[in-house]
Amino acid sequence: MSVLSALTDAIASATVEVVDLTAPLSSSTPVIKLPEPFGNTVSFSLHEISRYDDRGPAWYWNDITTGEHTGTHFDAPVHWVTGRDGQDVSQVPLPRLIAPAVVLDFSEQAAANPDFLLEVDHVKQWEGEHGPVPEGGWLLYRTGWDERSDSQERFLNANETGPHTPGVSIECARWLAEEAPVIGFGVETVGTDAGTAHSFDPPFPCHSALLGAGKYGLTQLQNLALLPARGAVLIVAPLPITGGSGSPCRALALVERG
Ligand code: MN
Repeated sequence: MSVLSALTDAIASATVEVVDLTAPLSSSTPVIKLPEPFGNTVSFSLHEISRYDDRGPAWYWNDITTGEHTGTHFDAPVHWVTGRDGQDVSQVPLPRLIAPAVVLDFSEQAAANPDFLLEVDHVKQWEGEHGPVPEGGWLLYRTGWDERSDSQERFLNANETGPHTPGVSIECARWLAEEAPVIGFGVETVGTDAGTAHSFDPPFPCHSALLGAGKYGLTQLQNLALLPARGAVLIVAPLPITGGSGSPCRALALVERG
């Protein structure tokens, strides 16, 4: 049997489960809020063109308004100044959009401390138990933050000092960019950096290091709890926006069951 026939048979029989890692996209989907004087993205919205009415008697359709970085989305290298000469979202090689993924679960730590930062030692310790992070694959960082995604306020978790959401340390960002064999880093939070990363030196180290190294970011993932620590295949489908810095995307995982 061919590899693809075996795969489609396995999906049909649910031996391979397809898990949706994508947040529902609506006007209440949380979006990042940058402080003054920075520009901000819009929330997602639908604008009805017709709905079986005078404007179109047999058809329903909408225009949409969205940011490139709204909801579950893909960060292309050109999103950051360090990656400005790199790929835009339409230029990402297609084989990179279907790749192995590992899931590192730090939801307990993030529940105890919303400013929790992933360190290189955490990843090394995980690798000691589960094996190396995958060459050409994704490191997905579970923090339990998807549980908050129905509330902009709880998702951004901001107070007078700014947002408080888990992320990675400066050192770990450098390691992911320069030493780890992964092509991308995926998170459940609004961005790949910690909520407090605006005050790091350098600021936003994950964006800066990973995108500068030609790697990718993936944010606002859900259902990582349904994935094994290793063995899942991530399929991520950003729109090929010409010159775009990123795109809302559908993120799916294939997981072998039984
Ligand atoms: Mn982004």
